[in-house]
Amino acid sequence: MRVATLIAPWNIAIEERPTPTPRDTEVLIKLEACGICTLEQRLYSGRMRLSLPLVPGHEAAGSIASIGQRVVEELIPGQRVALDLVERCGECYYCRIGKSNLCLNRYKDATKMLGGFAEYIAVRPNQVFPLPDTVSFEEASFAEPIACCIHSLKRLKVAMTEDLLIVGGGTMGLLHLLVAHAMGLRVTVSEPNPPRREMAQRLGADFVVDPTATNLVDFGKEITDGIGFSSCVVTSPSPSALEPAIRAMAKAARINIYTAYEDVMQIPLDLNTIHRNELLITGTEGRVQEDFFQAVRLLSFGKINVKPLISARVPFSRLDEGFRLAISGVAYRVLLMHGMDDEGKQS
Ligand SMILES: [Zn+2]
Ligand SMILES: [Zn+2]
Repeated sequence: MRVATLIAPWNIAIEERPTPTPRDTEVLIKLEACGICTLEQRLYSGRMRLSLPLVPGHEAAGSIASIGQRVVEELIPGQRVALDLVERCGECYYCRIGKSNLCLNRYKDATKMLGGFAEYIAVRPNQVFPLPDTVSFEEASFAEPIACCIHSLKRLKVAMTEDLLIVGGGTMGLLHLLVAHAMGLRVTVSEPNPPRREMAQRLGADFVVDPTATNLVDFGKEITDGIGFSSCVVTSPSPSALEPAIRAMAKAARINIYTAYEDVMQIPLDLNTIHRNELLITGTEGRVQEDFFQAVRLLSFGKINVKPLISARVPFSRLDEGFRLAISGVAYRVLLMHGMDDEGKQS
C-alpha cells in the first residue's frame, strides 16, 4: 500500500509498505479521504515536534476492508466509516476520569499515532463510527474537527438562543458556527479578512463583523439590548483579537480559548472584571468519544453542511502541494483523496 511518511519537517515521502494485518480484535480500514488539519500543518512545518518518521493524518474516513475474528461489535465489510485516529490509552488518570482528550499517553507511541495518510490502517472497533450512504467520505473527514467544536461549545454550557461570539473565521471558527446553529444559538463571527467574512455570511452567520472597523463592545450591546454576548469562542491566535472580545461579554459570560498560541500570552484583563462580572474563562483541547459520536450524527442527520469548507483535494503525488496550500492561510480544508490518480481523477 502507499503511505505518506513525514521524515523531517518539509519532507514527506510516498513509500510502499505492506498492508497491515489486523489483529483478531482489530478492523482493517481502506482509507478514502483525510484532512490536512492544523496538527499536521504544525508537524510538517516543524512548529510541533513529535518523534519522526511518522504517518500523519487524523481526520479520516474510509470503508471496512476486513474484521478481526474476535471483534464483538457487528460490523459489515464495505461499511463506510469515520475514524477517530487520536490514540487514547484508557488507563491514565485523565482517561479514567472521562477526559480522554487530555490522555497523558496519547503521543507516546509513534507507530500507533495518527496514520490517516496511508491507504490502509488497522484500528480498534471503538475508533470506527459507521456512516449512512448519504454522507460522502470527504464530508465524513470533518467528523473529527466537528467533534472538537462540540466539545468546545459543551464546555461553554451554551443555552438555546444565547448570543455566541466567534473570534476568527478560519476553518475552526466556521465549523463552530455550523455546530452552534445546530444548537440553536445566534452567532456573530468577528473576522478582519474579507473573503473569510464572505464565507461566514454564506454559511449563514447571523452577524458578521470586521473588528478593525466595528467596535465589538458597542456591536454586542446593540444586538442584545445592552447586555453583551453570552459566550465566546476564540479561534484566532491573534493577540489583538482577545481583549475586545472579552470586553464585549455580558455578565456571567463564558469564554473558551480554543486556539493555541505560538508565544506566551497573558489574559489582557483586569481581575476585578472577572470577579465582578462572574466571567468564566476556560480552554478546550480535542474531544472525547461522545463528542465524536455526536459529530457523526450531526453529519448523518444532514444538520450541517461542511461542503463549502472543502478548498482542495489532492492525490498522494501532490500531497506536498496540498500541505503548502493548507499552510498558506488562503484555504479552508485541503483533503488527501487516497483513490485519486495523478491527473486528479477519483477511482
Ligand atoms: Zn483535527
Ligand atoms: Zn490515557
